[in-house]
Amino acid sequence: MHDHFGCPCCSTLFGDAYRAQRQQGLQPLALTVFLRRFGDRSAALGATLLAAAEVPPSAANAASFNRVRVDQAPDGTRVFVGGTVLPVDAAFSEAEALAIRNGKVLAVGTREQVLREAGADAKVIDVHGKTILPGFVEPHMHLMPVAMGSRWENVGVLNCPDIAAALDRLRQKASTTPTGQWVLGGQIDPSLQDGAEDLSARLLDQVSQNHPVLVLNASLHFGYCNSRALQLAGIDRATPDPAGAAFVRDAYGMPNGILKGGAALMRVFLAARAMAGVDPVEAGLEVCGKANAVGITTFCDQATGAFGGPSDISTYQAMATSGRMTTRLRYSVLDALGREWERMGLGFGQGDELVRAVGWKIVADGSNQGRTGCQREPYLNSGDTGFAYVDPHELKEKVELRLRQGWQVVVHGNGDRTIDVILDAYEQARACGVSLARRPRIEHCSILHDEQIARIRDLGVSPSFLIGHVYYWGQAFRDNIFGPRKAALLDRAASCERAGVTWTLHSDDPVTEMNPLRCIHNAVTRQMWRDPEHALAAEECVPVEAAIRSMTRDAAWQCHSEHEVGSLEPGKFADLVILSDDPRKVDPLALKDIKVEETWMNGHKVYVRPS
Ligand SMILES: [Zn+2]
Ligand SMILES: [Zn+2]
Repeated sequence: MHDHFGCPCCSTLFGDAYRAQRQQGLQPLALTVFLRRFGDRSAALGATLLAAAEVPPSAANAASFNRVRVDQAPDGTRVFVGGTVLPVDAAFSEAEALAIRNGKVLAVGTREQVLREAGADAKVIDVHGKTILPGFVEPHMHLMPVAMGSRWENVGVLNCPDIAAALDRLRQKASTTPTGQWVLGGQIDPSLQDGAEDLSARLLDQVSQNHPVLVLNASLHFGYCNSRALQLAGIDRATPDPAGAAFVRDAYGMPNGILKGGAALMRVFLAARAMAGVDPVEAGLEVCGKANAVGITTFCDQATGAFGGPSDISTYQAMATSGRMTTRLRYSVLDALGREWERMGLGFGQGDELVRAVGWKIVADGSNQGRTGCQREPYLNSGDTGFAYVDPHELKEKVELRLRQGWQVVVHGNGDRTIDVILDAYEQARACGVSLARRPRIEHCSILHDEQIARIRDLGVSPSFLIGHVYYWGQAFRDNIFGPRKAALLDRAASCERAGVTWTLHSDDPVTEMNPLRCIHNAVTRQMWRDPEHALAAEECVPVEAAIRSMTRDAAWQCHSEHEVGSLEPGKFADLVILSDDPRKVDPLALKDIKVEETWMNGHKVYVRPS
């Protein structure tokens, strides 16, 4: 059956809540209609609700007054010396110095050459043995879900190894939250955190009985709340389950705080007014800063429209005109809103160097860790093969139509069966004379067989791997989900590299956290967080240079931006990162511990590591 929150990385939870909450303030009747029809995705994204989803007034423009505008190039020439420059050019060469002027790279080369070219007026910056790379490019994340989720306490595995630690963290949060106000948490993952499968009102009542508490599962398929939250949301023994969802109950029929499925979760989510007072523009600008802190200067949103419908694009524009946008944004529009994009006349390449449309995003299955990725063979110890979100015939039609319109088609596919179907769709489009020149992508592209890699190469399709699948879930894939033989087919970067396929790495934030150095570490070592002594399919480890290339030059290429970012070559933007260590020189296991010292975007220093 089709869950409204089918794909964690493309979940519409925050967007639906945002629209519904705005609707709540405006028209209670429409909200009731909305909730009644909630299981229907098209209704959730319907025109009635979109009409109420205009971007609220933002302080962005006012606040930028009298400030440096990062979208305008700074005056003067700067030369970086005293360290190693890795420009990530085609030859992966090494240089001694880098000069920037007017927000662009002026020269790269030996210290002497670069100083001469920069001229006597240039300001010289000694980086004291550190390493300069192009700013990282994150080719797949979800901007508005990250923005709107940032006010939720992260009690996932990144901060809390088990459920006891998660409860402690929530208790701490409650201790600083005024009585009666909501305590919100997210990223709980029972496949990674011991004891999380027991989470319910009983445990959350131990966090607080005076605060309502709501915690989201990382998949966004489930939520958990305490007794106070159930009470405030008006859920009791007599409350019927919403269509396609459930308030899980104890032996006496009392809801036990486990909220299963979108409509059940939304009931409490709305009671919490979980989006209240959040300005999407300001929250989006904060995400740019968060990206700079891990060295990112360009990121690509892979489901535009999932949050605010077509108004997501107005949010992006407001971010751009604020003059405070410190990360460039590329984006793929969500296929579910196809008619809206057509009505707007949106097309490939619209926008500028700060914000630009590139892709058309289609979601073809779920996630493997959620056992909703569509497989050729059943999951381990199960008769279940997951399921397709789009009928193969429909997928072919969608792919061909959007390719003909000139879009870069971007299809989410996790299971090997789904990847077969996606490749069939691209192949049939080509057979009909449609060009595949716009670098069609397969997102996550998690399980790959040899003959699929050959087809990918033949078609010129480009995969992007959610490499945290190996690090965070590798042990679960090997021992619980697939078994060792199939788990070895996960994220086959080295095989793609050998086949001459251009591939990249991504975080899919909020699925895993944006952090290119962690992604590089994961691809180079294939270390598993739950079994750190072992690599998952060590034969798929890539050289560090290839991993760096995948998160700079090749990710820029996948985002149709290699002419302006992704390498430090004369004429490209002065978007760069200064690292504490040369990634080629450290123990591979320590790659994720390298520090981002500074990040520069458009010739401006936009991040300095706090000392
Ligand atoms: Zn995604
Ligand atoms: Zn996805």
